Amino acid sequence: MKIHEIIKNQGKSISFEFFPPKDLDGENRLVPVIKRLETLGPDFVSVTYGAGGSTGKNTVSLVERIQEGTSLTPMPHLTCIGQSYGDLKTILDHYKHLGIENVLALRGDLPQGTSDADFPEDCLTCAKDLVDLTATYQAFSIGVACYPEGHIEAPSLEKDLLFTKRKIDSGAHFAITQMFFENRFYYDFLNRAEKIGIHIPIIPGIMPILDIKRTGEFCRRCGTTIPNSLVARMEKASPEDAGLIGREFAIEQCADLIRQGVRCFHFYTMNQAETVIDILGSLSLGRQ
Ligand code: FAD
Repeated sequence: MKIHEIIKNQGKSISFEFFPPKDLDGENRLVPVIKRLETLGPDFVSVTYGAGGSTGKNTVSLVERIQEGTSLTPMPHLTCIGQSYGDLKTILDHYKHLGIENVLALRGDLPQGTSDADFPEDCLTCAKDLVDLTATYQAFSIGVACYPEGHIEAPSLEKDLLFTKRKIDSGAHFAITQMFFENRFYYDFLNRAEKIGIHIPIIPGIMPILDIKRTGEFCRRCGTTIPNSLVARMEKASPEDAGLIGREFAIEQCADLIRQGVRCFHFYTMNQAETVIDILGSLSLGRQ
């Protein structure tokens, strides 16, 4: 089923994001995790795509297993930077053939050590171009990324939002946010988006922090703020206690979003089931 229709019909959604393991053994270990999370009745699950198409085959393989072996609705991520137009079309053709109905259209980031000179000549260089291509299929509900704190390369918050609007005007049906840990960024983004005429669902991306060092490094690279007080508490705690603090923080963050009327949640699972099960259980979200 198409994600924007699910949201329109239900007025809410729960979704989980996975990254494709490097090899078949890893995939075989992940499938039981996905099946465990399937019992919560998510409306869709998404599968990330490696930078520059580096792990594209693994994404396709996991998406096929979810589509064929579970009751879940998979949404593959697809990035365009560094990939030829023909390769992107081949992947979209394949997804259409498989009956996949949803795609998250992204620019992506080039793998380290590559430059513009390595691009194929017909490479698409921004997500909007991939939205344009994906929309020609008339087969997919198209999602795009958005950034409550602004994308790290954007010249300003205003310009970033305008570029986001262009993706929507090209045919995106919904957006999923970069992770954020201070809800004020998300509320402010919703207000600014509304003002410039963005009316599609903007689903908050929720990352329960389990490893503050790893998440902190990622957030520094992408310009996401983690409250200093949370960093300090997690750094002082044992790994086990730090996990509990991160989980508790995510529960509080979602509870605040719920109080403000938010009904759609996308969880970055880091391929682990238990944390998300606990969080949803505490919030009485998902099938209990
Ligand atoms: P775009 O929308 O193209 O924007 C990229 C930058 O270009 C922004 O700064 C924007 O302001 C600017 N821009 C856009 N249009 C123009 C223009 N016309 N002129 C000048 N500047 C412009 N990465 C992966 O590799 N694989 C994944 O699976 C993946 N999944 C993600 C899922 C979510 C929910 C999110 C939020 C991000 C994900 N990413 C993923 C990261 C994403 O690929 C990077 O953030 C990337 O740097 C930007 O991708 P985009 O699709 O937002 O690009």
